[in-house]
Amino acid sequence: LRSTAGKLEVVGVSKKFAGLVALDRVSFELSAGEIVGLIGPNGSGKTTTLNAISGAVPPSSGEVKINGSAVQGLSADKIARRGIGRSFQNIRLFKNLTVLENIEVAVAASAKSGSDIRAEALAALAELSVEHLADRRAGALAYGEQRRVEIARALALRPQYLMLDEPAAGMNSAETQALMGLLRQIRDKYGLGLLLVEHHLELVMRLCDRVVVLNKGQMIATGTPSEVQNDPKVIEAYIGL
Ligand code: ADP
Repeated sequence: LRSTAGKLEVVGVSKKFAGLVALDRVSFELSAGEIVGLIGPNGSGKTTTLNAISGAVPPSSGEVKINGSAVQGLSADKIARRGIGRSFQNIRLFKNLTVLENIEVAVAASAKSGSDIRAEALAALAELSVEHLADRRAGALAYGEQRRVEIARALALRPQYLMLDEPAAGMNSAETQALMGLLRQIRDKYGLGLLLVEHHLELVMRLCDRVVVLNKGQMIATGTPSEVQNDPKVIEAYIGL
């Protein structure tokens, strides 16, 4: 028997769009406290995988299990309440609200009764070292700052598993390094499971405990960063671009 506690499991998940098989029986798992990278060339199905897990675009078949219980087919909202958080490839902050208001709106919508919304929001901003930006208009922030605020917003909902879609996109090298450090800290502090879609391969290889590689909707490799880096199928998928 395998323990399913503290695990997000993707089991044989497929997703078809009209004639296109965007995901073909993808299976992997993410444990609490683990950082897993999801990589692959453009169009390989990375964002579709996050959508299938979060319920934004439910899978055509297969199962998504949170700590042993199946959630595929539930609404995105319900799945979020079961402990899945995410940030998006395109920043989705309310540009005309302040940073703090952005987080407060999210916390209020998640309706955790009895929580001090403002305190929770400020604490999440502090985790991402952006509490000094609380009163600024979100749309006026630098790109890297907006990315951090987005991650803070997801974290404020206290997920057990957090999925980040290209968190370092548009960041310079110093910002990327700093973000990596913060993600590690957050993982260590909360025992979060992090699923990271990222184009920046060096970041993935340095940050992740394990890596899952997709190509044309299929999982072509999984393993530690060094195992995956030396896998001929992975090299071929990337060179074949
Ligand atoms: P990646 O994130 O790896 O770049 P995606 O998951 O975005 O890849 O896309 C995988 C495939 O699914 C692509 O061929 C893409 O065009 C297709 N796809 C994604 N979303 C949709 C959709 N809503 N409708 C039709 N095709 C889609």
